[in-house]
Amino acid sequence: MIKIDMFLAVGMYFSFLFVFFWAALYSRERASRADDFDVNADLTKYVRQCPYCGHVGIDYNRRQIFRCSVCSSYMEDKGNVE
Ligand SMILES: [Zn+2]
Repeated sequence: MIKIDMFLAVGMYFSFLFVFFWAALYSRERASRADDFDVNADLTKYVRQCPYCGHVGIDYNRRQIFRCSVCSSYMEDKGNVE
């Protein structure tokens, strides 16, 4: 039989408890984050086309000023930003 100290046993108990609750909170936070992303959302509203070079890019942040990744020119969103 293994002899362990009482403080060691209590410490191990609380550390297991801590790890369990931390894992539960972390998985819950991850699940709520996954709920925020709508798979069926209309992704076409994120698509931007550069008027100068014709490059089509995706801007998930929906910024007012968008910079083309090919020709580095700036373009302004004309009012349809939500
Ligand atoms: Zn461009």
